[in-house]
Amino acid sequence: MKCALITGGSRGIGRAICEKLAADLGYHVLINYKAGIAAAQDTLANIVANGGTGEIIGFDVADAADTTRALAAWQEANPTAVMEVVVNNAGITKDGLFMWMQLQDWTDVTGVSMNGFFNVTSFFMQKMLRNRYGRIINIVSVSGVKGTAGQVNYSAAKAGVIGATKALAQEVAKRNITVNAVAPGFIKTDMTAGLDEKELVKMIPANRFGNAEEVADLVSFLASRKAGYITGETININGGIYS
Ligand code: NAP
Repeated sequence: MKCALITGGSRGIGRAICEKLAADLGYHVLINYKAGIAAAQDTLANIVANGGTGEIIGFDVADAADTTRALAAWQEANPTAVMEVVVNNAGITKDGLFMWMQLQDWTDVTGVSMNGFFNVTSFFMQKMLRNRYGRIINIVSVSGVKGTAGQVNYSAAKAGVIGATKALAQEVAKRNITVNAVAPGFIKTDMTAGLDEKELVKMIPANRFGNAEEVADLVSFLASRKAGYITGETININGGIYS
């Protein structure tokens, strides 16, 4: 059984990626969530309705012990399953000017993006190396590429993952494992629901927010056999915002 794991696959961009990897590439999809089990079940129902297969798997990517426990239990229950694709998509924001930022706002946001990348990716790395095939795709952000005022924590977390992407890509390229980052601009999800879209589109040349399916299409290509010579890249998908 060839599998793809999408962290934060229950809602938003992650849900669209789960659905796309099942439909386009035929993967058995592991839909990770932290708290929203009902949303994860909805994602699974959409995959099954389209003729695909998957399962939900709850764990907090920021928590190393919880992540290892859940993934080890899954691997033990599925000894022949091969994880070919890992999409590190789970992410949170805790915005505010740095002068007022609390340590907790910093550790929470870097914990999910950066430690999440480590906790999940390191679990599968040796197995992928032995299997001589893999696709690791990290969902970062325009904020990690250019830096965004009011998001010092989030910009640092995403920039950190971009650095990790470039370095890991060089370590594992010989074994047919690619490591890439996808950097969305403003995408319509729960994360951006509170933003003033009318005002913000003025700075987007495409004059609109993107949608999760557009990001998922890019991820699906990077996850495919066709993208084997692309590695260490950060691909912007932002409607033309300078980045
Ligand atoms: P979203 O709608 O808020 O969904 C976040 C997802 O991450 C949910 O499935 C959530 O699951 C999961 N999650 C959060 N913390 C987690 C944790 N500690 N462990 C496991 N899962 C966790 O977000 P989104 O807009 O789809 O964003 C997805 C990714 O794209 C994030 O990395 C975000 O930074 C990035 N991004 C988004 C935009 C945008 O405009 N939307 C732009 C650039 C980059 P629960 O509900 O169970 O917590």
